[in-house]
Amino acid sequence: MTAQIIDGKIMAQNLRDELAQKVAHLPTSPYLAVVLVGNDEASIIYDRNKQKAAEAIGMKCKIHHLPEETTQNDLLQLIDNLNHDVLVNGIIVQMPLPKHLNSNEIVESIDHAKDVDGFGIYNLGLLHANDSSAMVAATPQGVLYMLQHTLGNLTGKHAVIIGRSNIVGRPLASLLLNNHCTVTIAHSKTVDLPSIVSKADIVVAACGVAKMVKKEWIKEGATVIDVGINRVDGKICGDVDFDNVKEVASYITPVPGGVGPMTVTMLLNNTLRAYLNQNSSLKK
Ligand code: NAD
Repeated sequence: MTAQIIDGKIMAQNLRDELAQKVAHLPTSPYLAVVLVGNDEASIIYDRNKQKAAEAIGMKCKIHHLPEETTQNDLLQLIDNLNHDVLVNGIIVQMPLPKHLNSNEIVESIDHAKDVDGFGIYNLGLLHANDSSAMVAATPQGVLYMLQHTLGNLTGKHAVIIGRSNIVGRPLASLLLNNHCTVTIAHSKTVDLPSIVSKADIVVAACGVAKMVKKEWIKEGATVIDVGINRVDGKICGDVDFDNVKEVASYITPVPGGVGPMTVTMLLNNTLRAYLNQNSSLKK
């Protein structure tokens, strides 16, 4: 068997076309504010990509680029201003922040109606409680979309998620549970990971260890979603040993070109949702 590739680029482009059509019919542009502190190269590239993607579908996106030495109070003040700016619909703070800043306090200072990253405790709590008004983090939402559009109904499927971070593994576990999967979360202290993965109908790798998930671990016909982004010898690769795992899986995402493009798309989708929530008379 050779797995079918789940093409995140095409899926994301189709979704962005749909979003662009919706935005074109609004009286004003949804507005995403991005806060970037310091000069981390990858963060600068990520944020420019978000800005380009937002502008391409007719949204406004401003990057507030602050110097590395920005204080906690200055950053809290900027977020407070953005919280109170009625033109701003979504706020994200690029992580990681410089070490002298308290990330948790910063994330919790964002108005939960504008928390389009869904990283705040309020939105995480709603998701955990299976409340559909939750603003859900973009990457897990992208993974769920890919699974639903590939497999259809997920009820009863056994999903093994490798990774328990607050931005990928945990929210994804809630999303899949809310969609009636049986969910196992594995992590760095899990004993005998291969045997756990071998029982999965769906494997999501989000551990940040290059090509860790091996062909021998995968049940024949399983669906494999690779969230990982690793750089090995200057080349980007995922957490899955793609060339070999594709021999046994039925569907698999590539890296790059899989989950990555879906993440930015879902952030834009959240920004549109936030806009509509804040302009409830426009909701259909
Ligand atoms: P993280 O470092 O916060 O968490 C990694 C998780 O993997 C931890 O829970 C840890 O317990 C687990 N883990 C680490 N080593 C392991 C091992 N050997 N066996 C089993 N579990 C192990 O990372 P994160 O922020 O959740 O990101 C995970 C990966 O996904 C990274 O490669 C990151 O770059 C990537 N990522 C991609 C996107 C995207 O849009 N494609 C978005 C977010 C993160």
